[in-house]
Amino acid sequence: MGKASDKMIPDCDVIVVGSGFAGIYALREARRRGFHVRGFEKAPDVGGTWYWNSYPGARCDVASYYYAYFFDREVVRQWNWSNVCAGQEEIQRYLRFAAEHCGIVDLISFNTTVRSATYSDDTGLWAVETLAKETLAKETGANETVLCRYLILAIGALSEPKTPDIEGVQNFAGEMYFTSYWPKDKVVDFRGKRVGVIGTGSSGVQVIPEVAKVARDVHVFQRTANYVVPTLAGPMNPAIVSSLRENPDAVRGKLRQTYGGNQPLNIGKHRFHELDEAGRLAALERAWEGHYVALAFWDAHLPEANAAISDFVRGKIRELVRDPRTAHRLVPWDHPLGGKRVCQSDIYFQTFNEPNVKLVCLRETPIESVTRDGITTSAETIPLDVIIYATGFDAMSGPVLAIDITGMNGLSMKQAWADGPMNYLGTMVNGFPNLFLPSSAMSPSVFSNMATLAEQQIDFIFDTVSWLEERGSARIHPRADSQKRWREETLQSAKRRPGALTTKSWYSGANVPGKPRVFMVYCGGFKRYHDACSAEVEGGFPSYELLPPAVST
Ligand code: NAP
Repeated sequence: MGKASDKMIPDCDVIVVGSGFAGIYALREARRRGFHVRGFEKAPDVGGTWYWNSYPGARCDVASYYYAYFFDREVVRQWNWSNVCAGQEEIQRYLRFAAEHCGIVDLISFNTTVRSATYSDDTGLWAVETLAKETLAKETGANETVLCRYLILAIGALSEPKTPDIEGVQNFAGEMYFTSYWPKDKVVDFRGKRVGVIGTGSSGVQVIPEVAKVARDVHVFQRTANYVVPTLAGPMNPAIVSSLRENPDAVRGKLRQTYGGNQPLNIGKHRFHELDEAGRLAALERAWEGHYVALAFWDAHLPEANAAISDFVRGKIRELVRDPRTAHRLVPWDHPLGGKRVCQSDIYFQTFNEPNVKLVCLRETPIESVTRDGITTSAETIPLDVIIYATGFDAMSGPVLAIDITGMNGLSMKQAWADGPMNYLGTMVNGFPNLFLPSSAMSPSVFSNMATLAEQQIDFIFDTVSWLEERGSARIHPRADSQKRWREETLQSAKRRPGALTTKSWYSGANVPGKPRVFMVYCGGFKRYHDACSAEVEGGFPSYELLPPAVST
């Protein structure tokens, strides 16, 4: 049991899986702190989510000023963003630039998937089994089992695409694409084609207007109508850029003191109850025009403020879409703003005014099956040349469970998480010593700026590792009661967020049939989360169990 390998000596100190924001920084930190480190990445290049999600229109909706690294002055000073909302290609190029600047690219084995990770109770080592892409394996025999003392799975929260739960997907004879896995080896040409897009979350909302610009016709298959608000896109403000460049360390520190690991570019000046009806409406209009409607009031998180903002956005949808029946169907009625991830676009609703775009409301006419020639709903068969699936991800726990992970006493992660993910401070799991899961469940995650979170979590992880090294390579894992407490705190924080627990969303696993329903995002705010991590480091990890160094290490 728990015997991963007969080898007693590790091949390296640290293994980092994944090379997105967290992975690149983890590799850099491991090397800077003097560890022998290796990286594995299933893509042929760095970027993580920003490598794979290269569909037309993909761009970030957190301002590029802050959706970036701050650990290295030169990275901050040398990089120039072209827009406040950088596009996918630019962000991927930025991550490549940062990786090259840090000199960590050569540490990564690309085109290599990690299949399993097995902990040995005898040696205290993790055996990481990799599978190189077939072609590479033929050339180099590159499939390996590598032993390490610390394992960091920087594999992202939204990297395991959800298998479409629709009958007949494979029967379709036309072209089929997934926003989460957009082809790299060809330019997809929609000109003159009949395209169906399934899904109207953040990815669908971005891809639909781009496809509609060129396709012969577009059918949008919408199950749940979503809130879509104006983006922050526009030219960079040179004054903000130079202020960030002056002292990146200070910016980094300040971001960690905020609620969302981010500095909103604008926020309503007034509290909701300070204003009368007319004042609220004026504040909402200002915020809509100023592209910060979700923060139209200083206390926008209050249920009554949230309800007013939700209503206001519903009204805007009715104004923007000419056909009243289509507008009515595009209005989200079953959840408040923020219950699902708020989408951003300046052109989404207007797209439905184009003659080649048709909304198919799946609440009225559900999809029955995908057929050889198109999609059949309960009302009609729609012939299509192309189907785009913007159907989302098996979020948070999905990427972790896609790897066959076995911890102490032969306990698998699938067993440990049978009732949904459990961890402490979003990074470590009881029974899985020295295994770290940045960007996974129970951290501020997508309610925060993921770039700020990546740096903060990797710093926390390496502070943990350094603390262990000072104690002779000991091993650590959180106590079961600590992670129970943390799950409860995550749940309590969600109760204070409008719509969090009443909306069916991927935040709670409700988008994947059969997935345990556990709210997976910590809503207590970045500062509070960061303080809790710092308290562990400063207090000598009181919520963890320290295991003695294994004999061999
Ligand atoms: P998503 O938010 O989960 O949206 C998936 C969409 O597909 C939903 O509209 C869903 O409908 C629909 N769907 C799923 N299965 C379906 C089925 N069987 N039949 C019909 N419709 C189905 O996924 P996403 O749009 O890829 O976004 C995921 C997350 O990635 C976002 O929330 C965000 O955090 C991140 N993201 C960010 C950006 C950005 O920064 N700009 C861009 C893209 C993605 P229901 O709602 O009814 O389930």
